[in-house]
Amino acid sequence: MHEAVGGQHVSNLVFLGEFMCGEDSMKIVMLGAGAMGSLFGSMLSRSKTAEIWLLDIWEEHINRIKSRGLVVESEGEEVVYQLQATTDPDEVGIVDLIVVFVKAYLTKDAIKYGLSLVGEETVFLSLQNGLGNIGSIRSVVHGAHVIGGVTSQGSTLLGPGRVRHGGKGPTFIGGADGEIAPWVERVASLFNEAGIPTDVSEDIERLIWEKLLINVGINPVTAITGLRNGELLDYEETKGLMTMAVEEAARVALKKGIPVKGNPVEKVFDVCKATAQNRSSMGQDIDNRRRTEIDFINGGIVREGKALGIPTPVNATLTYLVQTIEARFGA
Ligand code: NAD
Repeated sequence: MHEAVGGQHVSNLVFLGEFMCGEDSMKIVMLGAGAMGSLFGSMLSRSKTAEIWLLDIWEEHINRIKSRGLVVESEGEEVVYQLQATTDPDEVGIVDLIVVFVKAYLTKDAIKYGLSLVGEETVFLSLQNGLGNIGSIRSVVHGAHVIGGVTSQGSTLLGPGRVRHGGKGPTFIGGADGEIAPWVERVASLFNEAGIPTDVSEDIERLIWEKLLINVGINPVTAITGLRNGELLDYEETKGLMTMAVEEAARVALKKGIPVKGNPVEKVFDVCKATAQNRSSMGQDIDNRRRTEIDFINGGIVREGKALGIPTPVNATLTYLVQTIEARFGA
């Protein structure tokens, strides 16, 4: 295994966290240590002031990380991280920050599972995709302090104990309520120190919706057709379908009072071009016969549309079609 360090390739590099306890130290658990939880956990473990835990219900993955370390592939190189990992929340105890990285349909279950991590001062961070994650956290922990956000970092789970760092891009975070502003700053500065470029935003709901509008267009259409993101632009039919789905979702956003800047359909087409060779996460879920996050992406638009009196027939149709595919393989 290799890693480029200071321009040199180092073989079999094993990274041991250099965490030092102190007043400013932060105890952080990745709740859900799959593709993203493992990636963020490994990067954050480079900080000297963060004590990192990976918590997941997947025993084989956790056991592999405990026995052989977590392998992170990035740009053809591999680094092994020795991280604290467990399936037992009680082993972790109360933490400062819970980074929720389960699929949106498991958020409530995961928060219930990790209740013993939560103390008076504990803050949650959700960088998950889809609508409703912050509400799901608060439905279990009433009055929870929650930071929301979006990230353009990407990761793929390759197997137990192994992930690949895919796309790299900015992360934006912001408080879902004002009182935790100092926490948002602390988390942003820790992320930046760990090599996760992060900005604080005052308008996190708008950013969540901006990312949602992209996913609303690309994800279900790749899932249903089997196409790569770039191939969606090769057919007038898929372009038309994406346009209708995104325009419906933008109408819902506007009615909710969320500003939609620029032309959202053009933005979706731009992302198709920029990620032309990729299969979207929903496409990959279908390829691997896994449940998708459709109910929190296009399904979320349908629910919001209903509440606001905006018809969303295209998003409803896409949701039903993806759910039918899921039902066929028993997801
Ligand atoms: P994943 O399926 O790779 O990982 C989720 C992990 O959660 C799994 O390891 C699973 O075992 C674990 N889990 C399930 N139930 C649990 C529970 N009750 N308690 C603890 N752990 C539990 O998913 P992912 O790709 O890491 O995505 C996580 C979230 O991040 C999703 O909302 C996704 O849309 C979002 N996201 C993913 C990417 C990406 O590139 N993968 C990028 C941006 C955002």
